[in-house]
Amino acid sequence: MLGGIDLHLHLDGSVTAEDAIFLAERSGIALPAHNADVLRGYLTAPKRCADLKEYLGSFEIPLKLLERPENVAYSTRSLVKRLAKSGMRYAEIRFAPGLLTAGGASQREVAVAACEAFVAAKEEFGLEGGLIFCAMRAGALTPRENEETARLSAEFLGKGVVGIDLAGDEAKDSPLDHARVFAIARESGVPITIHAGEAGGSDKIRAAMALGARRIGHGVRCVEDASLVEEIAEKGITLETCYTSNLNTGVCTDKTFPLRALMRRGVLVTLNTDNMTVSDTDLATEYARLGITEEEKSVLLGNAEKAAFAAVTSLAIR
Ligand SMILES: [Zn+2]
Repeated sequence: MLGGIDLHLHLDGSVTAEDAIFLAERSGIALPAHNADVLRGYLTAPKRCADLKEYLGSFEIPLKLLERPENVAYSTRSLVKRLAKSGMRYAEIRFAPGLLTAGGASQREVAVAACEAFVAAKEEFGLEGGLIFCAMRAGALTPRENEETARLSAEFLGKGVVGIDLAGDEAKDSPLDHARVFAIARESGVPITIHAGEAGGSDKIRAAMALGARRIGHGVRCVEDASLVEEIAEKGITLETCYTSNLNTGVCTDKTFPLRALMRRGVLVTLNTDNMTVSDTDLATEYARLGITEEEKSVLLGNAEKAAFAAVTSLAIR
């Protein structure tokens, strides 16, 4: 999308079928299909999943492929290239280095591969932004592994990394269970965003805010709590909403997605893709599906520009 800004975009949810086939063949990893059209069916979630867990099932193949640092580098460059070619000017790409160590690489090796690839690709293709490292909830990673992710996000801040996140199945724990991870981030000045108020309720959003999150991933369920909506607006917390993803996971319907309601109530809302392959979308599609007007577009992109963890400077629209 010309001049677009995407603040919530997962690397593992955005590996194309073509790239997956190339990476699997290069790395000798088995795939359920070697035809891109067939494989896409495995990489893309059903339009209406039973729950977030079913949606997260579509990440199995890309996560396996990304267990090799060279594949993380390849996928990062490929995504930056696609975004830049589509006219995007700024994107923050996130993933969990701690989930990619089963092939024998350390979190640090994964982090180095991603940062080097991102920095080189943004120069090569002309895209601004950075990487967000995700800690994982609900036992997907141990507290120790998550704390290592936080320390790496601090070490690579400004060298590819722009922030830290907490992702995974929200229903099972509270952001407060990960307080140490975000204490490390705060001590090092790493900007914080946390997935909350998607599968979980408003209590999860309050917990995320208490940990110093300046942005909330999704956050749409804040509408269940009027006083929280007021507080979010007052404190200038930005919500990274993702429309198609919320339809996929059943968090919202096209009637209940609260983007415009939140805009009317003065909340800093942004519109993002979440997962380009898993949700079969891109930023232009998200804007089109919601019938966003030019006026709304300038508000949403203005909000995104203000909330970006790195400076958005390329004002000239390509
Ligand atoms: Zn997400």
